[in-house]
Amino acid sequence: MLKKTTSTKFSTRKEIPLHPPLAKGDEGGFADWAIHKQCKFQICLASLLPAKISCKRALFAWAVSLFLLIAPSISAGQQTSLQREPHDSFATARRTMIDRDLRGRGIKDPRVLAAMEAVPRHLFVPENLRRFAYEDRPLLIGEDQTISQPYVVAYMSELLELRGHEKVLEIGTGSGYQAAVLARLAAEVYSIEIVPSLSERARRVIDQLGFKNVYLKVGDGFFGWEEKAPFDAILLTAAAPKVPERLWRQLREGGRIIMPRGEPRRPQRLVRVRKVAGKEVIEELKEVLFVPMTGEIQKAR
Ligand code: SAH
Repeated sequence: MLKKTTSTKFSTRKEIPLHPPLAKGDEGGFADWAIHKQCKFQICLASLLPAKISCKRALFAWAVSLFLLIAPSISAGQQTSLQREPHDSFATARRTMIDRDLRGRGIKDPRVLAAMEAVPRHLFVPENLRRFAYEDRPLLIGEDQTISQPYVVAYMSELLELRGHEKVLEIGTGSGYQAAVLARLAAEVYSIEIVPSLSERARRVIDQLGFKNVYLKVGDGFFGWEEKAPFDAILLTAAAPKVPERLWRQLREGGRIIMPRGEPRRPQRLVRVRKVAGKEVIEELKEVLFVPMTGEIQKAR
């Protein structure tokens, strides 16, 4: 599906910081709560078994406890437990980022905060920039593209109002970080990237982390992903002057599109567009500056 490419060299360039850092918020610590809870439950179950138990019964009890342990991750793709590094030396920095830059600046959805705490952003940025991974700023990922700042990722994720059952389309995979965060919040995430080497690198990281509900494709997001439509939510992470017609058609009734709307290198407005009785209902949100959408849409410029 993905084309083979040669370079994953990272170059230097910008995305614009959106807001100044702010005050401290309260405590973090949502990540993997459910998994811990299951483990504890399994241990409890094991300790409840009578001392002299028949082999058959013991086997049955083990089968039940094993099922209890794995069933939730079968039924909900977004709960896939992430393959963690043996020692995540960035865990503290990540928690500080959640408190200071997300909670501290008004991100409230506990599912979004938990997803941002669970996904290791440092793995999505070039090695020489990892020490900056939990600062609230965009970073260069190569091919003149950037990974968005954590606050923007959290803010857009919150605006999508995901509950866990949705099918989401992202335009602009970039590093794959936003797709990984969405994968913790929705059932299925489809993401399209126009630069093959970025898509290939994103795939490696996403696979390494063990996500099973993220589908990547190289192509022009302007055309969407017809075979997988309709989508409950669509997120554009590159700016466009208006909602591309094909994407609009691939959004289900009641669905929403979040996108930076505007022209390249000019201030853009983040908008949420809902499909209500087939019509656009637009909410204008914060001012932002994203890289421009390239490909087919440029022909109209
Ligand atoms: N979501 C990304 C950041 C995206 S930056 C992350 O989490 O890292 C915007 C991305 O959109 C860039 O990688 C750029 O190559 C891609 N892009 C631009 N125009 C596109 C198009 N027409 N179709 C698909 N991807 C596009």
